Amino acid sequence: MNELTVYHFMSDKLNLYSDIGNIIALKQRAKKRNIKLNVKEINETEGITFDDCDIFFIGGGSDREQALATKELTKIKTSLKNAIEDGMPGLTICGGYQFLGTKYITPDGTELEGLGVLDFYTESRTDRLTGDIVIESETFGTIVGFENHGGRTYHDYDTLGHVIHGYGNNDIDREEGIHYKNLLGSYLHGPILPKNHEMTDYLLEKACERKGISFEPKTLDNTEEEMAKKVLINRARSNKK
Ligand code: GLN
Repeated sequence: MNELTVYHFMSDKLNLYSDIGNIIALKQRAKKRNIKLNVKEINETEGITFDDCDIFFIGGGSDREQALATKELTKIKTSLKNAIEDGMPGLTICGGYQFLGTKYITPDGTELEGLGVLDFYTESRTDRLTGDIVIESETFGTIVGFENHGGRTYHDYDTLGHVIHGYGNNDIDREEGIHYKNLLGSYLHGPILPKNHEMTDYLLEKACERKGISFEPKTLDNTEEEMAKKVLINRARSNKK
């Protein structure tokens, strides 16, 4: 049986709104392709290399947990950057997305240094951007999820998509997330992958390509996933912002 390994960073701190469900979705959709997905939980990073990693995942957390996680991940920021530059597929959510940038400014104006893996920053305010969100993505089609963040992220990289309902990266430019090489960063909790099978398959397919293993069948029966997505799109429409 083919195998892939997911590195799940800071699973003990960053698991807001069931971000762990992303790992379950990856496992399930890998299984349908006869691929065993191993999960390595990494909460202490000293000496960690990406040699056995096929996909990495970082969830979201409060400002406090985010600061602790940033400190830990700073130890491997160069190898994380190299892995991303080399095309390693990865998913980072909310706090996990924010700290890939150069800095995070808290609502009281304190500047917390980010990992600086990518060139963007986030500024947080006490008024939060919350609720159901729907975005339209060129790569993934319609993406749905739930957001709850004080942080406003600003960058010129490609985004995951354009915001139809909700906020996304900030309350100005109507764009959500980041798509850099095979890295996907997003504010969407809920968790994002079970609701958006296109993104799950993207991460798995890229990992299979890199490892030289088969990703078959390319498409699965997504009737239930699509029905769930429709419910969420309608709910977001009726709570229109
Ligand atoms: N602390 C960050 C913010 O409020 C991230 C929160 C989260 O991960 N949901 O912007």
